[in-house]
Amino acid sequence: MTDISPLTLLGTGAMGTALGRAWLAAGHPLTVWNRTPERTAALTAEGAVAAGSAAEAVAANRLTVVCLLDDASVGSALADTDLTGRDLVNLTTGTPADARARAAWAEERGARLLDGGIMAVPPMIGTPGAYVFYSGHRELFEEHRDTLAVPAGTRYVGADPGLAALHDVALLSAMYGMFAGITHAFALVRGEDVALGEFAEVLVPWLDAMAGMAHRTAERLESGDRTGGVVSSLAMQVAGAGTLLRTAEEQGVSAELLTPFLDLMARRLADGHGEEDTVGLVDLLRHRVPRRDAKEPRAAAERRTDLTRPRHGS
Ligand code: NDP
Repeated sequence: MTDISPLTLLGTGAMGTALGRAWLAAGHPLTVWNRTPERTAALTAEGAVAAGSAAEAVAANRLTVVCLLDDASVGSALADTDLTGRDLVNLTTGTPADARARAAWAEERGARLLDGGIMAVPPMIGTPGAYVFYSGHRELFEEHRDTLAVPAGTRYVGADPGLAALHDVALLSAMYGMFAGITHAFALVRGEDVALGEFAEVLVPWLDAMAGMAHRTAERLESGDRTGGVVSSLAMQVAGAGTLLRTAEEQGVSAELLTPFLDLMARRLADGHGEEDTVGLVDLLRHRVPRRDAKEPRAAAERRTDLTRPRHGS
């Protein structure tokens, strides 16, 4: 049977409005609050009820989804709100430490908190590609899973409240590395006899194919085997880096997006790891002992993530 539980949404900015629309379209009674009340109009026009204060909105339902600008906004919006017995799902982007502190803060106030990191932009909400990483209170997640799955797929990544934010930020960080590469590539070819649209058509499948190295990286980091089956050695890659830098110079393009990675490769090679591929660079970046290595390793089954697709998309 479809769950059409009522819920509250704090924050009707671009993302909050998209989320709210999906719940309303699926028939969920929705109470909304926004610091600037006029910004609730799009959702009230579609059937949401606007509350006069955040406290009133939270009191209206057991489940409150929070989608505000940043963690400081969450603290200020909920400062004078009685949270006793409430379930909070915080979809506001923050750091892992923000999420852990906010979960403890909620618990001190008698509430349960699940943190979420949205892997979508507003137009993707309600489509099959959208999903949200969740971490923290597992029972809360299970109890509200059907409701949470309406606007976007749900991927629960662990009981530590910081894990959703960690996944979110890790994916965004990888994305910016990719954007840097795309930016540099277009700077190289622009102004030459290259049709940029056709160039994009070869660039995208190349990046898709190369992204598969993430699986090899994971395997090598888990197994500790850095050299078995290496087909593109670091020694070869560092030798080839000179061609990349000279081409940038010939084209009159700054290599500033490229050099940080190439410099790391050269450092790892200088440390005597020429037979590896680029996996060892992870060791160069990490300044402190990973949390997992400092504790007992978790069982594989416990680590496995758990994905459901958005209800809308199915
Ligand atoms: P908007 O800028 O559109 O909306 C921000 C919201 O936060 C508004 O409701 C705003 O209220 C509220 N707000 C800001 N400061 C305060 C404060 N001090 N007290 C109370 N409320 C405050 O942002 P989005 O809706 O796009 O983003 C919301 C969250 O979703 C962010 O954490 C963002 O990182 C995340 N997100 C957004 C994505 C996107 O592409 N838009 C993608 C993935 C995640 P007011 O209207 O009064 O200013």
